[in-house]
Amino acid sequence: MGVSNDKFCSWINELNPRTNIKTLSKNLECEWLIVGAGFTGLSTARKLAEIYPNKTITIIDAQLAGEGASSRNSGYLVDTTLNDGFNSDKDLENYKKKTDIYKLGIEAVKKFIQEHQVDCDFNECGKYYASSKIDDQKILENFSKTLSNLDFENELLFNIDLKKRLGTDFYNVGLYTKGGILLNPGKLVRAMINALPNNVNLFENSFLINWKINNGKIICEFEKGIIKSKKIIFATNGFLKSLGIKKNYNFPLTLTASMTRPLSNKEFLDIGSPKEWGVLPVRPMGATVRLTKDKRILIRNTVEVSNPFYMSKLELEKRAKIQEIGIKKRFPLLPDSIIESTWSGIVSRTRNSSQIFEKIDDNVFVAGCYNGSGIGVGTLFGEQIAIKASGETSKEIKVIEKKINVTKFPPDFILNFGAKIKLHYERFRAKNDS
Ligand SMILES: Cc1cc2nc3c(=O)[nH]c(=O)nc-3n(C[C@H](O)[C@H](O)[C@H](O)COP(=O)(O)OP(=O)(O)OC[C@H]3O[C@@H](n4cnc5c(N)ncnc54)[C@H](O)[C@@H]3O)c2cc1C
Repeated sequence: MGVSNDKFCSWINELNPRTNIKTLSKNLECEWLIVGAGFTGLSTARKLAEIYPNKTITIIDAQLAGEGASSRNSGYLVDTTLNDGFNSDKDLENYKKKTDIYKLGIEAVKKFIQEHQVDCDFNECGKYYASSKIDDQKILENFSKTLSNLDFENELLFNIDLKKRLGTDFYNVGLYTKGGILLNPGKLVRAMINALPNNVNLFENSFLINWKINNGKIICEFEKGIIKSKKIIFATNGFLKSLGIKKNYNFPLTLTASMTRPLSNKEFLDIGSPKEWGVLPVRPMGATVRLTKDKRILIRNTVEVSNPFYMSKLELEKRAKIQEIGIKKRFPLLPDSIIESTWSGIVSRTRNSSQIFEKIDDNVFVAGCYNGSGIGVGTLFGEQIAIKASGETSKEIKVIEKKINVTKFPPDFILNFGAKIKLHYERFRAKNDS
């Protein structure tokens, strides 16, 4: 099985095509190998290159660097993720551990952006958790209490105010959190590729078929060559399981998103000329919807277990129809057929939403499974796994390693069946808000 993605993601297609692409075509020996060149792998490479300025760091990806989920996401750099209440102080403590990590993730991205003068439409405009169901007020009130307890500024809003801010009267209740950031993920990850130091050797379109440890060396078999490395860091997120890594602790999900063309001046006026905004759903299977800086609407409202991962144009067109309905529900005045592109991306899920950041064998490290927070946490974990693999530690690693451990999934046949039932149930609960 290879890694291939559709070619329709607007975030990617609007960037200048890259030149200078190198593919692995012969055998190689190296000290440091990173597999996967998304936010995680690129940040690992950048940091390792800084720690070892006189060594060559090799990074390799099955497709073009950054063109997996790292470019295909909705662009929310999150400070919080929704939690609808706790049963104990211990739960609250665990939620704080999570938000401490998100905070460090935001800091890591901000630092990168400042150091490299990156333009990625970074907007500290906050974000909304919103629902059309007034019954969801209870969930949001509980969440608001949690946020206030942890000093996150937030504000509960109802239909009229939401309409003024979002330009749609679809939502009846919402919670605004001040700390969230919206950005263009394609631009950010491209900047990370451009910022790779000279001592990083990047290979693309080179799929890792399998790997093993032999006499203290890690042997990686690619389509057109073998790399023998002393140390390896896996940064393949949704593809960890297919490489046999922590395979009972994570599994891949396929998400699809659509983006409209920019709204015309009249269409924009018709929806009240709102400022850029982003809404996350209250129910897990509800829609993520954004109004971008350049007045386009982005919607992501499908999550599924899809095998093979690759989604054909026909399959994407089916998802685009669901997304067109989602847009119509919110903006009935907008014309039909304004969706310009629809694409899919692979993410990784763990059972208890905790992330993976660890040494799994001698000289073998892994970071991944961010459950919707990979822009910030992927950047952070990438940098910090490099520090950990170099034998050092940091204040960030101490925070990361306080997180709760990922829990084991049941065997695959139960997992696949269970995941489908759960997604089906969640889809039903979020029906109106998809
Ligand atoms: C539609 C969608 C919306 C999302 N929205 C958000 C959001 O708003 N905010 C947020 O923070 N996160 C969001 N995410 C999740 C986020 O995109 C991921 O968490 C993040 O991209 C993870 O980065 P990564 O570098 O670990 O993995 P990836 O970006 O997936 O990179 C992994 C790389 O590994 C490579 N690879 C895999 N297998 C192999 C192999 N065998 N050989 C060689 N290379 C291999 C892949 O080609 C890929 O480039 C969303 C994801 C999707 C798909």
